[in-house]
Amino acid sequence: MDVFEQSDKYTANTYKRAKVCFDHGKGIYLYDNNGNAYLDFLAGIAVNILGHSHDIVVNAICEQAKKLIHVSNLYYIKEQAEAAQLLVEHSCADKVFFCNSGAEANEAAIKLARLYGKSKKTILTFEHSFHGRTITTLAATGQKKYQEGFEPITQGFVYAKFNDIDDFYSKMNPDICAVMIEFIQGEGGINQADAQFIKEITDYCQKNDILLIDDEIQTGMGRTSKFFAYEMYDCKPDIITLAKGLAAGVPIGAMLAKDYVASAFTPGSHGSTFGGNPLATKVSSEVINFIFNNNILSHVK
Ligand SMILES: *Cc1c(COP(=O)(O)O)cnc(C)c1O
Repeated sequence: MDVFEQSDKYTANTYKRAKVCFDHGKGIYLYDNNGNAYLDFLAGIAVNILGHSHDIVVNAICEQAKKLIHVSNLYYIKEQAEAAQLLVEHSCADKVFFCNSGAEANEAAIKLARLYGKSKKTILTFEHSFHGRTITTLAATGQKKYQEGFEPITQGFVYAKFNDIDDFYSKMNPDICAVMIEFIQGEGGINQADAQFIKEITDYCQKNDILLIDDEIQTGMGRTSKFFAYEMYDCKPDIITLAKGLAAGVPIGAMLAKDYVASAFTPGSHGSTFGGNPLATKVSSEVINFIFNNNILSHVK
């Protein structure tokens, strides 16, 4: 049995895979098990932001794995605190909650927004958005094809047309506690938000005590030449979600929030077994420091 037969026989039928299997990677190249080299434009779906087998990532994994991989959030975690401080220093947020994926980061954001909103529970998202595959984040995702067959999906989402301010206002109602947006939609086509559109929804949200949740799972970590895509706009989001490139290949997610929003969480409101473990957060800190210490953002630009 070759790997293609073995994989089709034993793994769940959730992916339409290209018939290629990689053995190793270095920098921008991937190598298959026949020795062919491939220029990697996919980067693991916006994950491998320092390329493959980067020394910074490999060394951080090896050194941290020898010391401590996991302890749980019942204890203080130095590596987690350091990564949180770095994310706060490089963003408009004050507090960080760590998890393990993008969908989980958005779940945390949705839970926080509903707690903060008190009696207001609805979240407005946009057509062609993508926010994840859990039963709630696929409800947030404004694309019917991801939702079909999984009903009943989580209630409390309305969808507006991207870059259409009149449609945005027409979808507003008094139950809305948050607006969730990607400044550049990734999975729904590469759709960039207009500066004027962002300015109007930002002002409207501020005036009406509606939170702005900025999904930077794909656009964050310097992929737009700013560390976060929101920095290209006149906007400081209340909540930011991150994953994909956050530890350049090691699974991790994070939800960042301003203090006045984050304080809606109290011990027991939310949690994660693996979230913020020493291994993933150590790698993340090393990646963030590497980006800023080596002028990577000007290179991206
Ligand atoms: C990939 C992605 C997600 C989901 O992340 P997972 O780690 O696959 O759960 C959410 N939002 C955006 C914008 C994404 O690109």
